[in-house]
Amino acid sequence: MTIEENFVFPVYINVNVLNRIRLLCKNFPNEIFGYLIGHILKWNDIFYVKIEELLFLLGAIHSDKFSTSQIEGAAGKYDKKFQRLKRKRKDDSLRIVGWWHSHPGFGCFLSTTDVKTQEYFFPESYQVALVVDPVKDDSQFYTLDKNSEKGYKEISFAVVNLNSN
Ligand SMILES: [Zn+2]
Repeated sequence: MTIEENFVFPVYINVNVLNRIRLLCKNFPNEIFGYLIGHILKWNDIFYVKIEELLFLLGAIHSDKFSTSQIEGAAGKYDKKFQRLKRKRKDDSLRIVGWWHSHPGFGCFLSTTDVKTQEYFFPESYQVALVVDPVKDDSQFYTLDKNSEKGYKEISFAVVNLNSN
């Protein structure tokens, strides 16, 4: 049985992680982006995603003004940060479970560039995109969906207050 065959949403995200992302998005006028780190967990043969950490680099901006190739430099640095985090937590099962970015004032959705970013950098079935609009105080999770005209779909999420370890 593979993860792909038995993967379900919702996504579970630690309340501290979501609050920190919301605060970062509020504090930066630009469209910033970072990584979502967590585990794939299994319960009764069903897999789900638990988001436990976030990564953020100063100056990492994701915008429709840029192409996906222009965020590749930041992606490399994020991968190095992720390797360091795995070593620090001595946890080899940690995964990059997606990414987050801000849409200051223009609402939650995935743009064409966002869908391309998802397809190129986060193509796994368990990898999600979190969009935060700090002006409208809105947050939403998305995943790729080949059957949808837009190429993605909204997924439900639950905010949990659990010790991340
Ligand atoms: Zn976007």
